[in-house]
Amino acid sequence: MSGQQPLIQLTGVGKSYHEGDAEHIVLHGIDLDIRRGEFVALLGPSGSGKSTLLNVIGGIDAPTTGTVAIDDIDITALSERDRTLFRRSHIGFVFQFFNLLPTLTVEENILLPLELNGMKTGASARAHELLDAVGLGARADSYPDRLSGGEQQRIAIARALAHDPPLLLADEPTGNLDSETGAHVLKLLQDLTRATQKTVLIVTHSAEVIRVSDRVLRLRDGSIVEDTAP
Ligand code: ADP
Ligand code: MG
Repeated sequence: MSGQQPLIQLTGVGKSYHEGDAEHIVLHGIDLDIRRGEFVALLGPSGSGKSTLLNVIGGIDAPTTGTVAIDDIDITALSERDRTLFRRSHIGFVFQFFNLLPTLTVEENILLPLELNGMKTGASARAHELLDAVGLGARADSYPDRLSGGEQQRIAIARALAHDPPLLLADEPTGNLDSETGAHVLKLLQDLTRATQKTVLIVTHSAEVIRVSDRVLRLRDGSIVEDTAP
């Protein structure tokens, strides 16, 4: 039965900031269901609320109103600590600026989400499996600053998928890469997530990603103004 339930269910999700007396509304009461296994592209101009929406879905940011349920769990009702634990086990994040930890090696970066989830045996083998999957098996002992931007993002993708989360959120993952490297990274992200039937929500401007997506959402001024299947 639970397989029929959407993986992501947003009900009346609003987010606003107060600046002095003014209220700046960033998300306007968003209702949204995303099914398990859907690959969804999120579009919209700068400032339309894409990152805010992703962060609210990922439990990094709390909405001002409404509820966010992931895998039938209302994450907006969880304590900070429980939400962190939930995020660690259910969600992988890929960011525009990679966000690898500079003092850890590539392998250690990938091991981190496994260790945080309490995986003791098999973690190193899992990390190497992921490194091979992103074509960087030879760079396990390198530090992130020794890698190109494209390589760092491939490592970040491996890290995001290491703990096998059902949901991958990616916020302009190629925004800091040249177009050829970006295309390669996006293809890898698609291939790895399709192969493991992940649900993916990706902020992107890539026409190629939009073309292969199951669904395209467009945000404008904090509202979803388009919801289509390409
Ligand atoms: P996008 O990712 O689509 O470019 P964002 O979600 O980053 O948009 O931002 C949407 C709006 O929310 C912007 O107007 C931005 O200035 C505002 N915003 C984001 N974070 C904050 C914050 N911490 N405080 C005040 N305003 C914010
Ligand atoms: Mg953004």
